[in-house]
Amino acid sequence: MNHDFDPFTATVQESAPAPTTADYRALDAAHHLHPFSDMGALNRAGSRVIVKADGVYLWDSDGNRIIDGMAGLWCVNVGYGRQELAQAAYRQLRELPYYNTFFKTTHPPVIALSARLAALTPAPFKHFFYCNSGSEGNDTALRIVYRYWAAQGKASKKYVIARKNGYHGSTIAGATLGGMDSMHEQMPSKVEHIVHIDQPYFFGEAPAQLSPEAFGLERARQLEAKILELGPDNVAAFVAEPFQGAGGVIFPPSTYWPEIERICRRYDVLLVADEVIGGFGRTGKWFSHQHFGFEPDLLTLAKGLTSGYVPMGAVAVHERVAAPIVENGEFNHGHTYSGHPVAAAVAVANLTLLRDEGIVERVEHDTGPYFQSSLREAFGHHPRIGEVAGAGLVAGIQLAQSPRERTRFANGSDIALACRDRAFNGNLIMRASGDRLILSPPLVVSHAEIDEIVDKAKHAIDATLRQFG
Ligand code: PLP
Repeated sequence: MNHDFDPFTATVQESAPAPTTADYRALDAAHHLHPFSDMGALNRAGSRVIVKADGVYLWDSDGNRIIDGMAGLWCVNVGYGRQELAQAAYRQLRELPYYNTFFKTTHPPVIALSARLAALTPAPFKHFFYCNSGSEGNDTALRIVYRYWAAQGKASKKYVIARKNGYHGSTIAGATLGGMDSMHEQMPSKVEHIVHIDQPYFFGEAPAQLSPEAFGLERARQLEAKILELGPDNVAAFVAEPFQGAGGVIFPPSTYWPEIERICRRYDVLLVADEVIGGFGRTGKWFSHQHFGFEPDLLTLAKGLTSGYVPMGAVAVHERVAAPIVENGEFNHGHTYSGHPVAAAVAVANLTLLRDEGIVERVEHDTGPYFQSSLREAFGHHPRIGEVAGAGLVAGIQLAQSPRERTRFANGSDIALACRDRAFNGNLIMRASGDRLILSPPLVVSHAEIDEIVDKAKHAIDATLRQFG
């Protein structure tokens, strides 16, 4: 421990002695509660302190270079160190650091961002409501859904259907919408009228005799059965990620989304696509619902909207939903930082980079196919890998005792966590979800960097599987 280190002066005086890794860890353990962490275990092990980043690489306080196979938390789409975004924030901080859009005011960055989003999202999305995160985006989507049905004179439509093993955030509404048992167990009280159906997870849940196509239809028709059980006049919306991200990068069978869309239209149920991970190029399309070819009524957006440089979320509203909201008096919803000028300026600069550098097109035609084929080459015939799922620059790698029979390891999540930790020690950030491993690198990753990610992932997975036998 460096005893000259004073935590306050170190943050305000450049001449102060540099903190050591031990200094950082001691203060972190003493004062910082981390998200989704076992704090006791973390404090005993000590956090890794990330001090800087550039491109697809991070550096820790001991000088190790780490390749970021997760784009932070699936968000740093344009990569780290983009001066264009830093300049946009700096200029806006000097010009107008804050003003709200509540009471008959607006400002140039939020106007520019809304016009830019209207140009980039598919045609029917022309109105945008802003917030600070994906969780708030999903809360906002629910508020818009309720408001829409009230304006239609159908206030009885209040049930929202979501899916088990979906993830929609950590606010009370976001966590209720999500289908994560580990989160629900810690919530004695949830938002009312939210119910869940099963997920379209073929590898993990399909009976042996069912084809992926038949299974996709079967899981989609659970939505129809649930709507009929609750009564179509009582069901407001279905909320889902086009592909499940945190749940393990689960891509549904091809039959799933067309059937879901048919059912939502038939029973007059709004379709909310949570594009918090899938938005802004992750699958090689601007939005991941375009990859699956369906048309939602609302999109929730965050992460890649600003490439994570500053917090921002949004809800894109289809014209058929926006029109009655626009014409129906005051909507009593909003955040102090809705459409924050600095966040909006960074978002505009970020969208400019994504468009002008052809980043999304490169994911679709070049780096995405290269990433997917490299992973399939490394793991496609692996004796303990059941499937590689994904498109563009996102993938889920399924651990399996026996891939052909789709038999899973009894301790699969322990093995996956050990793979993740081994990769981290080898300076690759990879994530684990149940018995699946996840990769989702920045969208500017090069072929050579993809090779490094795949090599390191394979090394970590093989070494761990040898250890577990
Ligand atoms: N929706 C999805 C699909 C997510 O993956 C996440 C976060 O990972 C969220 C919502 C919540 O976003 P946030 O953490 O910004 O609140």
